Amino acid sequence: MPFGGSVAAGESIHRYHRRGGDPGDGLRDALADGAPSPEVAIIGGGAGGLAMAIQLQLAGCHTFTLFEKSDGVGGTWRDNSYPGSGCDVPSHLYSFSFASKADWTRKFPEQAEILDYFESLVPRFELGPHLRLETEITEVTWSEETGRWTLTTVQGSRHEADVVVSGLGQLNRPYIPDIPGLSEFEGTTFHSARWDHDHDLRGERVGVIGIGASAIQFVPRIAREARQLTLFQRSANYVGPKRDRPFRRIEKLAFTHLPFLQRAYRQWIYWRYEARFSLFKKNSRLGAYFQRMFTKLLQPMIETGDFTSEALVPDYPPGCRRILTASDWYPTLMQPHVSVVTEGVDKIGTRSIVTTDGVEHPVDTIIFGTGFATTEFLAPMKVTGRRGADLNEVWGGAARAYLGLSIPQFPNFFMLYGPNTNLGHNSILFMIEQQVAYTLSMLELMARRRLKAVDVTDVAMERYDQEIQELAGDTVWAEGCHSWYKNSEGRITNNWVSYTVDYRKRLSKIDLHDWDLEPV
Ligand code: NAP
Repeated sequence: MPFGGSVAAGESIHRYHRRGGDPGDGLRDALADGAPSPEVAIIGGGAGGLAMAIQLQLAGCHTFTLFEKSDGVGGTWRDNSYPGSGCDVPSHLYSFSFASKADWTRKFPEQAEILDYFESLVPRFELGPHLRLETEITEVTWSEETGRWTLTTVQGSRHEADVVVSGLGQLNRPYIPDIPGLSEFEGTTFHSARWDHDHDLRGERVGVIGIGASAIQFVPRIAREARQLTLFQRSANYVGPKRDRPFRRIEKLAFTHLPFLQRAYRQWIYWRYEARFSLFKKNSRLGAYFQRMFTKLLQPMIETGDFTSEALVPDYPPGCRRILTASDWYPTLMQPHVSVVTEGVDKIGTRSIVTTDGVEHPVDTIIFGTGFATTEFLAPMKVTGRRGADLNEVWGGAARAYLGLSIPQFPNFFMLYGPNTNLGHNSILFMIEQQVAYTLSMLELMARRRLKAVDVTDVAMERYDQEIQELAGDTVWAEGCHSWYKNSEGRITNNWVSYTVDYRKRLSKIDLHDWDLEPV
């Protein structure tokens, strides 16, 4: 095999060639053949970072360090501990294929159990010695001379690595809108992803600003405590029932003792969810049907006169924003102490929220369910690549990455759950697994060919981006509605634009023509 540089026409290497083998088998073989073990720095101890660390461990590549800014792993599931927090993807699909859990207690997992699952992976795969907790990375800088990255922590210490894998994902920075008067508010305020568990909401007048995926989970819970609950909703959501229930003992026993049954169940869920992508196609007939049915089902609530159609029926096609599931949502709205306000929030008083119609709504506590800063991706971390290129400047607010993973001028740098890899219809862990497998193959390539740097070409980046944006134009997200899937210019920066099987196929081989390979 040649070292670096030249690539024969049509030459490509395939990743995890062996059926049933681990994605890191190729890297394992390369290391066993005497290739040097690359030093890998993983940033973030959420699902992505953990998956990468586990696969490196399984591949026998123990030269890695995982940096995590908080005091434990679990990422978004550590942050989002609000009441009612859980996942709308079924438990058996919301776990790694290489680290299954047979004894999930419910059909849809709750936050505590998901966090427990991710935490359990640390001893299970002996990741402890590789973790650097409470270590926030603020800067990552490429050195042309050494062909290595320097990572700087918030405390100012430095660490070097051959390869950096970012596991920061898309949903790690809570977004609180800059509403006039907020700093003078005399009550309590917090964001759903930074829930103040010491604050007692019993008997309080609570205002919730922002009604999305998180709010529909915590609102039914806090409605049991608050004296008065006012929901400031800018856009209505499509909310369907969540067919959740605890697993019976016999089911858990069957999954534990008959692993093939668990695998079959997982596959069944995967394909059922995968089929839902068709709803995201522009002018989808399924979407139109869904919209008609939804409007019809809500009609009786509107006819009571307690709700306007604006409060309940979205003015955008289904799927334009995440379709939500919660069986307790509409019953909660019907409680006498709960009200939905659709007028925009104008300002915040010392003890109230004032809407654009001039009405003052008294509140003791304001909870922000306003989501996350999603389109800035790695910010505020400063990533400096070749010739001083600053990643956020390169992107200029329009993040993009080849396969969602890699950006030209930022060699040996891989992103997990990067641009255009978010899903609205299936498990994000599936996407992360494909990205980790691809990255392992790149590491194998680097190790076998003694490469100093692998850098995706500008041509490949352009071609890929054009194709993705064309496909994006054919989706429901390109229609009039706004969402966190798009940047301020309307470019779809966050979502994967096709079926997940399409993504897997694209990542199933490395096309060497798309990469500049630089030998040591
Ligand atoms: P979100 O779904 O983005 O909802 C944020 C809400 O805040 C939206 O309703 C938005 O209104 C509103 N908002 C934003 N700025 C506002 C402002 N200035 N004034 C008034 N309202 C404002 O955020 P999230 O609920 O935290 O969920 C974020 C993502 O996390 C989800 O989409 C999902 O991917 C993930 N999540 C997943 C699950 C799960 O079960 N898998 C659960 C929770 C969260 P507009 O809609 O009008 O913009």
